[in-house]
Amino acid sequence: MVEVPKNEMTMIKCICASCPSYTKCMDSGDLGVFCSIGDAKKCLQDLEGCKCQEDCSVSSEFNFSSQYHCNEGSASQQQK
Ligand code: SF4
Repeated sequence: MVEVPKNEMTMIKCICASCPSYTKCMDSGDLGVFCSIGDAKKCLQDLEGCKCQEDCSVSSEFNFSSQYHCNEGSASQQQK
């Protein structure tokens, strides 16, 4: 699997902030693009849905079959 870069383009495309599971805590430090950088498990309160698969262009560009990257880790971590 191709590693997802955490750069300006993926930051702009990332829709994590509109996800029902997203919390204020996730705003601190590594904002979004959890499919690149791994989890934000310490910030997660409740799994209330994930928009990675259905709405995010990063997910479709990189052909992800995984989601909940804030909880389960980056796309490459989930493949291991
Ligand atoms: S796939 Fe999910 S974690 Fe990755 S950029 Fe899109 S919304 Fe963010």
